[in-house]
Amino acid sequence: MTKITIAIDGYSSTGKSTIAKQLAKALEYVYVDTGAMYRAVTLYAMRNGFVGGSKDSISLLCDSLFKVKLHFGYNEALGYSEMYLNDENVEKEIRTLEVSKNVSRVAEIQEVREMLVEQQKEMGKNKGIVMDGRDIGTVVFPDAELKIFMTASADKRAYRRYKELLDKGEKVTYEEVLKNVESRDYIDSHREFSPLRQAEDAVPFDNSDMGLDEQFDRMYNFALRIIEKKKKDA
Ligand code: C5P
Repeated sequence: MTKITIAIDGYSSTGKSTIAKQLAKALEYVYVDTGAMYRAVTLYAMRNGFVGGSKDSISLLCDSLFKVKLHFGYNEALGYSEMYLNDENVEKEIRTLEVSKNVSRVAEIQEVREMLVEQQKEMGKNKGIVMDGRDIGTVVFPDAELKIFMTASADKRAYRRYKELLDKGEKVTYEEVLKNVESRDYIDSHREFSPLRQAEDAVPFDNSDMGLDEQFDRMYNFALRIIEKKKKDA
């Protein structure tokens, strides 16, 4: 069967994981949420007192990275994979605003990125994968057949994330979430190593005013067209 690699990048809370999960399900591909991997390393750093951005905390984290074992475990009931940190299911813990506040500083660290990018490349070596993140089309899979770059206005994104956190029972304010979304986007786009940017061959996709069904139909059709073309060319 002809399989392709689908790379979905973009700003925080643009709904990358929602569309990535839908595409993976429809195409029977593997879905990988790379943000969950950066979040799990951040949780590890927070639990061990390695956050704060000082040179010492960064070097302590780098020295401990060999102890950070990550894997995704498929949850049949939910229909998607969950993140495990050293065999502990941390899916809930990594989604808190506290982790969101620290994650972009951890994701700036070159050693952290190198370790995770290597694992991500390995997961996608047989294609048939939908991966979302910030550097998938530029660094992890520069040869991906379909690259999508998602955007939406900051207030819409913050509102979506705010509702998600409220639904999960977190006590947060909209202003706090908006500030976090904007600050993560700033750090992610300005960091030294693999900053968030649109790959030259990525399809830009603004879903500020688009429903989930329309978004899915459009992306699924992009994917089918590319798969068909690949089949013909083979
Ligand atoms: O996708 P999500 O919002 O969960 O990602 C959390 C953070 O992880 C991002 O704000 C970014 O700092 C980092 N990240 C990254 N590269 C990726 C995926 C996520 O730097 N490929």
